[in-house]
Amino acid sequence: MKRKIKIKNQLFIVKVMFYLLIVIAASIVTWTKHYAEGASLAILSFLFLLFLYKCPYCGYSLDFRFRIKKETPCPMCGKVISSYEKNE
Ligand SMILES: [Zn+2]
Repeated sequence: MKRKIKIKNQLFIVKVMFYLLIVIAASIVTWTKHYAEGASLAILSFLFLLFLYKCPYCGYSLDFRFRIKKETPCPMCGKVISSYEKNE
């Protein structure tokens, strides 16, 4: 059975995960004063974003402030990101 995954939803999940990790990292630093742990978690979440928040066509890493709307083209290859559908 084929299941279509909308890239827009996938990228949205990645973004939400990133914000969650940043909040967790900030909480660790604020409450436990474990700066090294908090900083490494923040770095990890940035790496996570860098590897997963990218254009499905050319693999260009998108800016996390970059909003993917219905007609948003990739800044690198110019293809409409949200029209990409992955079959699984
Ligand atoms: Zn692209």
